[in-house]
Amino acid sequence: MDTDATIDEAVARYRRDPSCLLQILRDVQDELDWISPAASARIADALGLTPAAVEGTLRFYSFLHVEPRGRYRILVSDNFTDRMLGNMELLARLAAGLGVAPDTKPYAVSNNGHASLGLTSCTGLCDQGPAILVNGRAIPRVTPERAGIIAGLVKDGVPLDQWPSELFVVADNVRRPDLLLSNHLVPGKALAAALARGPDGVIGEIETSRLRGRGGAGYPTGRKWRAARLAPGDVRYVVCNADEGEPGTFKDRVLLQSHAARVFEGMAIAAFAIGASRGYVYLRGEYAYMRRMLEDVLAGMRRDKLLGTGILDRQGFDFDIEIHLGAGAYICGEESALLESLEGKPGRPRIRPPFPVTHGLFGKPTLVNNVETLAAVTLIAAGGGEWFRGFGTPRSSGTKILSVSGDCERPGLYEYPFGVRVSQVLSDCGARRTKAVQVSGASGVCLSGHELSRRIAFEDVATAGAFMVLDESRDVFEMARNFAHFFAHESCGFCTPCRIGTSLVANFMDEIAAGHGTRYKVGEIMSLAAVMRRTSHCGLGQTACNAILDTYAKFRPSWDRRLTSTDFEPTFDVDAALAQSRALTGRDDAGAHLDTGEQGA
Ligand code: SF4
Repeated sequence: MDTDATIDEAVARYRRDPSCLLQILRDVQDELDWISPAASARIADALGLTPAAVEGTLRFYSFLHVEPRGRYRILVSDNFTDRMLGNMELLARLAAGLGVAPDTKPYAVSNNGHASLGLTSCTGLCDQGPAILVNGRAIPRVTPERAGIIAGLVKDGVPLDQWPSELFVVADNVRRPDLLLSNHLVPGKALAAALARGPDGVIGEIETSRLRGRGGAGYPTGRKWRAARLAPGDVRYVVCNADEGEPGTFKDRVLLQSHAARVFEGMAIAAFAIGASRGYVYLRGEYAYMRRMLEDVLAGMRRDKLLGTGILDRQGFDFDIEIHLGAGAYICGEESALLESLEGKPGRPRIRPPFPVTHGLFGKPTLVNNVETLAAVTLIAAGGGEWFRGFGTPRSSGTKILSVSGDCERPGLYEYPFGVRVSQVLSDCGARRTKAVQVSGASGVCLSGHELSRRIAFEDVATAGAFMVLDESRDVFEMARNFAHFFAHESCGFCTPCRIGTSLVANFMDEIAAGHGTRYKVGEIMSLAAVMRRTSHCGLGQTACNAILDTYAKFRPSWDRRLTSTDFEPTFDVDAALAQSRALTGRDDAGAHLDTGEQGA
């Protein structure tokens, strides 16, 4: 199919709806491998958008390409746990096998132009890394042998859909199921119970349950639902935030892969409670491989009258769900950035207030809940708020799914009632000689060996789910450096403290790692961290230095051994930079710029 026909078909598939721009760009790239200026202009024309609007979205998302990158676009996952599993060796191996230059920043194209290779942020496969994405499709456990197979398939030009299916198998790795991962509910039972209670009754049960959002912020779910229900307006939306991009988190992957109907039923219950008729699942681009399966689940629910018109034969209760894919932007996990992205724009966090419950998608009241939260909603609707509150602690009800990765024998998912001690999790997953546990991802907290008796709960160690284990052989400074680069890459660029600050911090960390560490540089990092925390527009900038601050406070030796005795070391050699000018002008006064002026005074 030629370019124009591909674009016209994609635009028609999305009803010529400009808010579907991101989906259209994704589909067009799937066919054409990249978005050329001509393609971008045609899409703008077809949707009635300005070329600048299309280019703005196109250039915001790291999975969209404005230059040819070959037929096979390979990205190697680069969370710190991937590093622990040898992703850089994998990168070198793939580079050699594909004929790609080893320096892949940000990516490199093979000599024949057929393939490209680069790094990407955490792909949500930390329990089975190192992982790669090929044209957006996830391949876990890329051993040297599998890397060789993949390079061979690329070299032979085998179409991706003809690659051995076992390469793409993503395991659930559920190690300790509890309520959410093992409760076998009859589909529709919870929704029927919700209909019997009525909207206010459902919200009342959610309030009684004391359920708090599982995406990280921990906002009371019932309070959010009531605000959305009471918000003025006739049109409301329910959005499932399935953009889990926090490094080290992969629980939503498993919930969607094996319990999607429960999550979607939770969305329908939410829709009934607040009076919404349309829902969206915002699925992170790295999980695109699940899309077809999820569409099948939705189709089955429509057949069973759990979605669609007149749900469970209730006159006037109409609700359906559409899946939208992200395209490699971590910031879209922030709910207002997610809404911008759902509208087809760059995913930049909005200024709040107003909050999404009153001014959300397309300016309408919108409920945004995390995947795990919605799965819990279904259980609460079926079992009641009191029952759910019987699990966990008084201030943290229910269970929490932890995504355990790193130095342990059994990485995977562990679900516990809130209040479990960190040491218990470590014992269950087979961790030994643990030096540190990074809880809640790059923006979370780094626990030292003295803190392992702390509990996973909102009142102690709150987490969205990531639980990365580092044993005594690991260097926590390197983890903090990896996260510094992650944030510099993922900053959306909207506000100066974060846009500039994250890059400066990453540069300082590189200089320290390269043997140019000084106390002056550490001081600069700490100053930047304080400014970013105080003045950044959203949580990304505010928390970007958490790992640096934690590791510096708790693991000082791993920093100190990198710091030289000098207080200041110039990072820029002015004398060398001026050498060419001196040569051109015939001056021989090297070092003149260092003159204090005493001689000439
Ligand atoms: Fe964007 Fe960072 Fe500012 Fe958040 S803090 S709005 S991610 S630049």
